[in-house]
Amino acid sequence: MTQTLRANRDRLMQSLDELGRIGAYDAGNGVMGVRRLALSDEDATGRRLVMSWFEQAGLAVSIDQIGNAYADRPGADPALAPVMAGSHVDSVPTGGRFDGALGVLSALEAVRTLNDLSITTPRPITIAYFTDEEGCRFGTDMLGSAVATDRIPLADARALRDADGISVGDELDRLDFAGPEPVGQRRPHAFVECHVEQGPILAREGYDLGVVTGVQGISWRRLTLVGSAAHAGATPTDYRKDAGLAAAQINVRLREMCVSGEFGELRATMGVIRPEPGSVNVIPGRVTATVDLRNPDADALAAAERTLDNFCRELAESSGVHITWQQTARTPPVIFDEHVRVVIASVADRLALRHRPIVAGAGHDAQEWSRLCPTAMIFVPGENDGISHNPLELSTPEQCGHAADALLNTIVTLAGEGA
Ligand SMILES: [Zn+2]
Repeated sequence: MTQTLRANRDRLMQSLDELGRIGAYDAGNGVMGVRRLALSDEDATGRRLVMSWFEQAGLAVSIDQIGNAYADRPGADPALAPVMAGSHVDSVPTGGRFDGALGVLSALEAVRTLNDLSITTPRPITIAYFTDEEGCRFGTDMLGSAVATDRIPLADARALRDADGISVGDELDRLDFAGPEPVGQRRPHAFVECHVEQGPILAREGYDLGVVTGVQGISWRRLTLVGSAAHAGATPTDYRKDAGLAAAQINVRLREMCVSGEFGELRATMGVIRPEPGSVNVIPGRVTATVDLRNPDADALAAAERTLDNFCRELAESSGVHITWQQTARTPPVIFDEHVRVVIASVADRLALRHRPIVAGAGHDAQEWSRLCPTAMIFVPGENDGISHNPLELSTPEQCGHAADALLNTIVTLAGEGA
């Protein structure tokens, strides 16, 4: 029978609290937020703190050229590829204490527990944090893991600039985080990431954790609608070319598509709808808008894009509003490895944790690693409907402890394979 191990929940929560104090700010009403923008001074302080914990746990730390930190724990057989677990330390400008940090620190807690119990796994274990997962400073998310897994060339990543013109390369050099390890060298046996769900499903349905089946595909478009600006009182309805109305019709059509069931689990958002000239008594002559489409199924995502295109064409004809669009981002859906998912689910069963399969609504480092090795994720429920990218982000000690137990036993199981 496989031994079931328990992580030290109190130690995990202490580390989360300590890391959460770096970049902390008062968000009002006694709620503390976290601001550790990628490659800022706060991010660097957080990185160094976690690195010191890696070293205290006896791990050999190596930094690669894009600033990803890898902490290696030897296995009984050094010839075997390691099991890797990790996430990120950076945050959005108004973040919480758990996004990213929980994944890194629950992996650290797994290693600390193995150290306490003097357990050596057959395979080595690597725990890691990756540079600039959030993408909100330099504009490209999952940057460090994308470079490590050969999706984005190192030189392109270093050249990315923030709004002040400061580049990723400048900051890596300034903070001494452009490490000596060449990028693209790591080929793990498997990769696991524990992360807060960032949504309401697990908590509302009373689950202890989610076994993530994959990541939704994302399609971003920028729409430009050109009608004609005219007097709100003197222009009869028949004569109008109202770009604002056309934008509203597109938004309504997107909602109809989401609830029709025709496009699977489609989610659609028009996050920007900017009318010009933007005056109370002028028919909007021009609207700039964005469409964010998400779907875990590649075909359903493509079908939604085609349906949107057709609708815009027909709408342009019937309304006289000229509609053009540009694709500003597109990432295909990711399906996580079946075997790793089964390992996580069986570990959760052994721990008597209630779990369900769940699709990730956001992007994660794990999707980058999934191109290189069998990969899956463990999702952790959160309070306040799982709110995230918000200072109210909160997973309880019990929720975090369950996740750490599941990650620990998943790592141990995977690290015993093929030995
Ligand atoms: Zn995250």
